[in-house]
Amino acid sequence: MSTRRKVLLGGAGLLALGAAGLVGRREWLSREPDLLPPLDAAGRALWSNWAGTATAYPAVRAAPASEADLATLLPAAKAPIRPVGSGHSFTALVPTEGTLLSLDRLEGLVRHDAAAYTATIRAGTRLSALGPLLAGIGQEMPNLPDINKQTLAGGLATGTHGTGKGFMALHGEVTELRLVLPDGGIAQCSRNWRPELFHAARVGLGGFGVLSEVTLQNRPLSRVKKVVTLVDTEELLRKWPALAGQHRNAEFLVLPFTGKSALITHDVTTDPVRPRGPDQDADTLMDLKRLRDLFEFTPALRRRAAQAAMAEIPPEIAIDEGWKLLSNERPVRFKEMEYHLPIDQQVAALREVIARIERDAPGVFFPIEARIIAPDDAWLSPFYLRESGSIAVHAWYKEDHDWMFKLIEPVLREAGGRPHWGKLHSLGAADLKQLYPMFAEAQAVRRKVDSQDRMMNPFLTRIFG
Ligand SMILES: Cc1cc2nc3c(=O)[nH]c(=O)nc-3n(C[C@H](O)[C@H](O)[C@H](O)COP(=O)(O)OP(=O)(O)OC[C@H]3O[C@@H](n4cnc5c(N)ncnc54)[C@H](O)[C@@H]3O)c2cc1C
Repeated sequence: MSTRRKVLLGGAGLLALGAAGLVGRREWLSREPDLLPPLDAAGRALWSNWAGTATAYPAVRAAPASEADLATLLPAAKAPIRPVGSGHSFTALVPTEGTLLSLDRLEGLVRHDAAAYTATIRAGTRLSALGPLLAGIGQEMPNLPDINKQTLAGGLATGTHGTGKGFMALHGEVTELRLVLPDGGIAQCSRNWRPELFHAARVGLGGFGVLSEVTLQNRPLSRVKKVVTLVDTEELLRKWPALAGQHRNAEFLVLPFTGKSALITHDVTTDPVRPRGPDQDADTLMDLKRLRDLFEFTPALRRRAAQAAMAEIPPEIAIDEGWKLLSNERPVRFKEMEYHLPIDQQVAALREVIARIERDAPGVFFPIEARIIAPDDAWLSPFYLRESGSIAVHAWYKEDHDWMFKLIEPVLREAGGRPHWGKLHSLGAADLKQLYPMFAEAQAVRRKVDSQDRMMNPFLTRIFG
């Protein structure tokens, strides 16, 4: 099979000669970011998130082995107390000079109901472990995000989502939460029991206490067919609203400066298993980077070379259980901004985002991602009572990302977008109040469970005011 990699390299190679100067300039601009010392002057070890956009030197690190240990630890813990999952948020939700709290030891299945397809899970369980664990009891989460490295609690705390008409974000399927509050009290909540806490803390940014257990409404394990096809961006944008409804899960990645997009769909099937092949996305990304390095200042050539390179690429197909196909490996580190727009604003805003990048940000080579998410009723959910179309832009971790704030965020805000809590954005409490009808109610619940603001770091203070 001719891989995307080989073909892209072939296309780029046509004009590679003589371009060494441009590549050299780019290499200099893309040098490795400066690293902070592994220990600070007081001997405290560095913590960093996956992307390198948030760092801290916590005074104390704790990893309680049980909910009881967690309840003993919290009342005396040095503030700010910040729970950490797998550190995959891009925003500074986690950094603390006080107590960094890992729930890595609180993982696994507590109990399940085979008839109702529910399962109660310890909050520190990684989604990658949850897939096989649920498959073992004949269940699956209805939908999954693009990667599965997150912990369940971390994913819920930021409104982590996948894509698909009628499919809610992960927190939409939560029926019950157990939280350890900063005073060491244990709170159980659901739609019927302490509903205010349930509605506020389901997407809680780690500001309402520490989640210890989560009950999920799952569904019977199913098999899906995944298809990745390279298509014309313009044609895709015209068809998208209809197309999104024709597949169980649909999303696309616009490859800027190429006129092409990768359409990714998943549909339930009973066809025989066809395991996914080796991951090609990382190689494709680096090839897009090479095209950028060579043709950054000649967009017409960049487009022509990319189109020639992509002309013969066949669709990628895999058939397997959903938990094996919906999420991907993302070995190439990046920084990301994502906003969730009213669904009818998505295509127009996306056109403007593409136009601005192609006009004013020739250094961008990462794809622009578009997904759809069903509404839910968690007070701090970016999908609160509205079907959403998301738009996400990315930058390689070594490269500048100011353009996201200058060029892209205004478009996404203008379209009524709400930011992903875990991804880069510039909003504070005053803006968020306008976007979240129940923001004041959520703030009031937060003040009640954390009256001394022991879970607030500077970033959360900006968010909650
Ligand atoms: C490569 C990559 C791909 C991604 N893909 C997607 C995607 O497809 N869809 C999407 O929506 N997002 C995506 N994200 C964003 C990611 O899902 C979220 O940022 C998520 O919150 C990360 O989970 P985590 O376990 O790493 O949590 P962390 O980033 O460590 O923490 C996130 C928040 O959870 C809180 N928290 C952690 N544990 C607890 C607990 N026990 N109790 C209370 N609060 C807690 C933290 O305090 C913090 O506020 C992606 C991120 C990366 C880096």
